[in-house]
Amino acid sequence: MMADIDTLTPILTRLKLTAIRDRLDTLLDEASRRELSLREALAFLCEAEIARKDQRRITMGLSIAKFPAVRTLDDFDFAAQPSVDPKLVRELATSRWVANGDSLLLQGPPGVGKTHLAIALGREAILRGYSVLFITALNLVALLAKAQVEGRLEERLSYYAGPKLLIIDELGYLPFEKNAASLFFQLVSRRYERSATLITTNRSVGEWGEIFGDVVVAAAILDRLLHHSQVLTIRGESFRLKGKRKSGLVKPALVEGSA
Ligand code: ADP
Ligand code: MG
Repeated sequence: MMADIDTLTPILTRLKLTAIRDRLDTLLDEASRRELSLREALAFLCEAEIARKDQRRITMGLSIAKFPAVRTLDDFDFAAQPSVDPKLVRELATSRWVANGDSLLLQGPPGVGKTHLAIALGREAILRGYSVLFITALNLVALLAKAQVEGRLEERLSYYAGPKLLIIDELGYLPFEKNAASLFFQLVSRRYERSATLITTNRSVGEWGEIFGDVVVAAAILDRLLHHSQVLTIRGESFRLKGKRKSGLVKPALVEGSA
């Protein structure tokens, strides 16, 4: 059978091989220019299709994750942040900890790159095929509390239990209501040992009792979170202020005082 473009198009559409369909002429020209065997040509076409499907999956994953900004490891300046070990970050970027359902705590003062690294590591996890969701601690707790009032807590908890990696940003910037600690505990328990959690915080683990307004629940949360976990403590001054100081907008004394 001689299949021309007109008969191939609907076939490729039906097989959802849209990358091959859309670039059929180019791909076939390329295959013949390279004098590929039939088997090689088939592999060449399939690779084009896979590349497109991977790209789609990544674009979709990034949009589902709801990152507040685009941040990558490539644009993280390790020289400017000597307390962060590039080797450790490269290891984290492999997402093995995500696969294992471990926790990662990024701890440090404001402006040192916690959210930047959290987004960048989330992005790496998406590139490796894991589902990721980013949310601030305050939003998370507010939405859980709202769902509870509306009798949909179970549904909400399942929603946040779903992603392989949940990134909870800015824990501890404001203290929670007592009820929030219990909601947070329920979520952490549900995700425990199955899914990975990344938390950024400006508070040390010893201060979590204060954040949650309840030392007993805080201890129970920490018990689960820290069981399989890594804590990365970032020190130093705010990256934002550093730039401003260089340009003379902020006096050094103020920078030191705000860290
Ligand atoms: P934090 O979450 O610790 O308060 P952010 O991650 O929001 O800090 O960092 C503040 C800003 O500075 C962001 O725009 C971030 O991209 C940038 N930034 C911080 N540290 C670095 C770094 N080492 N290299 C490049 N940009 C950085
Ligand atoms: Mg932040």
